[in-house]
Amino acid sequence: MAGHRRRRSRALSEPLVIVGNGMAATRLVDELVKSSLGRYAIAVIGEEPRLAYNRVLLSSVLAGETTSHDIELKPADWWRDRGVTLKYGCRVTEIDAGRRELKIAGHESVEFSRLVLATGSSPLRLDVPGSDLAGVHTFRDSRDVDLLLALAARRRPVVVVGGGLLGLEAAYGLAKAGTPVTLLHLMDRLMERQLDGQAADLLKTLVERKGIKVMLNADTARIVGETSVEGVALAEGRLIEADAVVFAAGIRPNTGLAKEAGLSVNRGVVVDDAMQTSAPDIFALGECAEHRGICYGLVEPAYEQAGVLAGYLAGRRTAYHGSVVATNLKVSGVSVFSAGDFIGADGSEAILLSDAKRGTYKKLVISDGRLTGAVLIGDTTDALWYLEMIRTRKAVAAIRRDMMFGRAVAMPAKAA
Ligand SMILES: Cc1cc2nc3c(=O)[nH]c(=O)nc-3n(C[C@H](O)[C@H](O)[C@H](O)COP(=O)(O)OP(=O)(O)OC[C@H]3O[C@@H](n4cnc5c(N)ncnc54)[C@H](O)[C@@H]3O)c2cc1C
Repeated sequence: MAGHRRRRSRALSEPLVIVGNGMAATRLVDELVKSSLGRYAIAVIGEEPRLAYNRVLLSSVLAGETTSHDIELKPADWWRDRGVTLKYGCRVTEIDAGRRELKIAGHESVEFSRLVLATGSSPLRLDVPGSDLAGVHTFRDSRDVDLLLALAARRRPVVVVGGGLLGLEAAYGLAKAGTPVTLLHLMDRLMERQLDGQAADLLKTLVERKGIKVMLNADTARIVGETSVEGVALAEGRLIEADAVVFAAGIRPNTGLAKEAGLSVNRGVVVDDAMQTSAPDIFALGECAEHRGICYGLVEPAYEQAGVLAGYLAGRRTAYHGSVVATNLKVSGVSVFSAGDFIGADGSEAILLSDAKRGTYKKLVISDGRLTGAVLIGDTTDALWYLEMIRTRKAVAAIRRDMMFGRAVAMPAKAA
């Protein structure tokens, strides 16, 4: 009887198809099965030939701190027990929004009642001569990491292009394995979108201590080599010898499917506050989505979007209003936190504490009596406390004298 009821309720479930089997998709399913179990027959179709994994931890896999197997987000029986149909190793090639049907490469068509695009981003390859030579790599998925690990084992010189989070992580992983690494960054400081000049200088010093050679203002003009990489030529004429190049110079949201289906697309797939695209019953979230002009390239906004979308699909009137972006992570083994207005807009004040020898730097930006931005290098113990203050915009007058020294000093009763 129970089995009969289950079959019956499944037959009545609406087919909800999610394209992409990454971090946003997994969080959405997790939220959906809690809020609307039985309402939808969920199918997840993903191009990567494995169960969804924590992409953030690819850096740890590359650094030899964990294994590829250990980063799976959910085990196979988690998906099975929740009745989710998983098709992985399957690329969706076409969406017919009118007929509510999509095509999988070399396979069948799949019908949907509601569709969610969670297709993430692709790494950018610089458009310079030689970028298609053998030995040019990117750093996005577990296949890339397998290739980079094989590269690291050869211990031949590698150039990493891009001094943002991904470039630093790629450089750190390779250097840790004993590979001579030169990191090229076009700008005059590392992680310029998260760090002010002083913090970036300290990070550079700490990164160089790990054996990575960092070159700033380095404009990659071409990759040199006959059939495979032999070096990288800079615009100012210098040549850096290398057996391989890793591009970590940005990402582009995967919007091709949406564009061809006639959905509204700017940089990402345009969504409203319910994460709905320009087509009814087609939604998008995560790195492929653009909300109020912003494409987020981080996990936390994707998870917030998943919570809102799951609520909406469960019939609640939920809305996403955007995320206060924070970076709180280990970059090349160094703890880094940055949030809000970390540079300091006109009229703001900054409190600074810097101890280069100990490898720590703290900057708090205050505007109109509220904490509006923060940068921490080395010691990030109080990062979430500062983030909470930035998000809630609470007045800080009462704790201003001590807040620089952390929560335990500024609010001893609450921290205890
Ligand atoms: C090495 C690395 C380190 C990172 N570190 C951090 C960090 O410290 N903190 C942080 O916040 N973020 C970090 N990020 C970014 C974070 O991983 C992403 O923001 C997050 O994975 C986005 O989730 P998503 O589901 O939108 O995209 P993804 O996780 O990329 O998932 C998208 C999936 O869709 C699949 N797909 C695409 N097109 C199709 C198609 N046509 N058919 C079927 N499947 C398709 C893709 O193959 C992919 O598996 C890091 C990223 C990398 C690569």
